[in-house]
Amino acid sequence: MPQDFSSQLCRDINASPTPRHCVKTVKGLLTAQGFVEQKRTQFARTPGKYFLQVGGTLMAWIQPERLKSFSIAAAHTDSPNLRVRPQPDTESANCNQLGVEVYGSPLLNSWLDRDLSLAGHVIIENGDTTTTTLVTVEEPCLHIPQLAIHLDRTIKSKGLQLDPQKHLTPMWYSDAPFRSFLAKQCDTVSENILSFDMQLFDTQKASIVGLEKNILTSSRIDNQLSVFCATYALLSTAPLETVCPVAFFYDHEEVGSQSAIGAAGNLAANTLEQIAYSCGLDRTRYLAALASSFLLSIDGAHATHPNYADKHDSQHHIALNGGLVIKQNVNQRYATSSETAAYVTSLLKNIGQVPQRYSHRNDIPCGSTIGPIASANLAIATADIGVGQLAMHSIRETAGLEDAQSLVALCQSFWQ
Ligand SMILES: [Zn+2]
Repeated sequence: MPQDFSSQLCRDINASPTPRHCVKTVKGLLTAQGFVEQKRTQFARTPGKYFLQVGGTLMAWIQPERLKSFSIAAAHTDSPNLRVRPQPDTESANCNQLGVEVYGSPLLNSWLDRDLSLAGHVIIENGDTTTTTLVTVEEPCLHIPQLAIHLDRTIKSKGLQLDPQKHLTPMWYSDAPFRSFLAKQCDTVSENILSFDMQLFDTQKASIVGLEKNILTSSRIDNQLSVFCATYALLSTAPLETVCPVAFFYDHEEVGSQSAIGAAGNLAANTLEQIAYSCGLDRTRYLAALASSFLLSIDGAHATHPNYADKHDSQHHIALNGGLVIKQNVNQRYATSSETAAYVTSLLKNIGQVPQRYSHRNDIPCGSTIGPIASANLAIATADIGVGQLAMHSIRETAGLEDAQSLVALCQSFWQ
């Protein structure tokens, strides 16, 4: 494995404990390569490299001379986690604690006995204006200890039972009220804090493991691995005559995408339309451009767990570092069609790769992703693909770094 690729991926994930941080990391990479930020109220009319950020969602594109179609890669910036409540200070048995809310569907047990800390953003009043400050607290300051086995005599017969309201409230290793602590982090006083969105994260950094150094273990592999691999590919993409390469990185996938900045909203469609008008198209020609566009929806795929191999269809096992995965589901939980599977297979063939094919068991409900939602909204041919991973939604997930490299190569060939 090329050491610089693996280290950069680890560095970028480590720098991105929340969706806003993820977007900031991507912005940093784009800006360094000459991408220019746009406002929703005004789009540049000349060909060039641009991006637009709205909250934890970011879209980047390379505007061509004569627009005829979009080649879109999409992924999501959010991961399941625990988030601090608006009035979090609480205590029990003389221990300070912080009230948290569960975001999405984390594997709750994986949050126990971890050295946790806080990251997010704070909105501060400054006279007549407000500023939004990103915060990362590097020192571990929170814990959710598991109950000792001697005090939980049913664990052997019933397994670990966690009540998300009662058993996930972390110990807060500070005597300061939360707002005072936050104010100090932002060099202000607590009266100036108008609101905040603070999230818990594991302070353990991403690791490259295995004697061949080809396995990644980290928080947020779902789906920051896809976000960063698509970004690396976009950075090396040259402008095209008539095709507009686009990357959409959405927030709120883990809670169903139904938000002003999620894949179920109109942000993507509106942005594509504005790009089309900036290229001199009218609405008829914009709709024609959509008709010949393609959406590559990239999200984690389930690698086969060797201890639970029977959770997969026996003809569709997925191996770490076994190649990129095309996900297909006849009930449209994935947006891949026979045509779009064929297209991705031929793209992979061009870079000397063979896909792994994922097909879900009939007796377990299938997960989903932004593919079907964005595809339905935009009416664009879509394929759902991704890198195989283990322990999806754990605080510590596992994926193959060779597959991550293949994802960069696939996006590069998609945008060529
Ligand atoms: Zn995901």
